[in-house]
Amino acid sequence: MEEGEDGEQYLFKIVIIGDSAVGKSNLLSRYARNEFNLHSKATIGVEFQTQSVVIDGKEVKAQIWDTAGQERFRAVTSAYYRGAVGALVVYDISRRTTFDSVPRWLQELETHSDTTVAKMLVGNKCDLDNIRNISVEEGKSLAEAEGLFFIETSALDSTNVKKAFEIVIREIYNNVS
Ligand code: GDP
Ligand code: MG
Repeated sequence: MEEGEDGEQYLFKIVIIGDSAVGKSNLLSRYARNEFNLHSKATIGVEFQTQSVVIDGKEVKAQIWDTAGQERFRAVTSAYYRGAVGALVVYDISRRTTFDSVPRWLQELETHSDTTVAKMLVGNKCDLDNIRNISVEEGKSLAEAEGLFFIETSALDSTNVKKAFEIVIREIYNNVS
């Protein structure tokens, strides 16, 4: 989705995937609007949010897509993945099942993508350290095995949220420029 030649403008589609309730929608609202919702409804109705960042003096627009809760029905469509050049694959550090689902999400992403995708494994809800079920080491080693970047975040207290998105955006930029 790279745009323009002389204007040096870029538009990158990034998708957020992972099991239901891991915090995907809140990661996006924290990043794009600095908002967090304790009782967020699964369906927000917005397909994506656009964020502008400047890399090497160039304006880069990240069009970040959030599922509208379809992942509960295992019905994330191919349209969702189409044209994506970046992905955040999210699990909840307090829920093992969401971590166990990561390979399935990666497989789905792989199936639907026809280009290089910059991928970040995101262990969200790191504020819940007291009820943690997945160690940092475990997250790291899965990321290493699958060739992904790795970070732990909290959409609740904002830890590493901006960083997670910006590392992916930077990597996409490196891939295309
Ligand atoms: P999604 O289904 O993956 O989009 O998840 P949501 O963003 O809707 O979040 C699901 C639930 O987890 C909501 O009750 C959120 O308030 C909560 N949540 C999301 N992110 C965090 C976080 O970083 N820490 C904590 N403690 N709760 C979170
Ligand atoms: Mg959601």
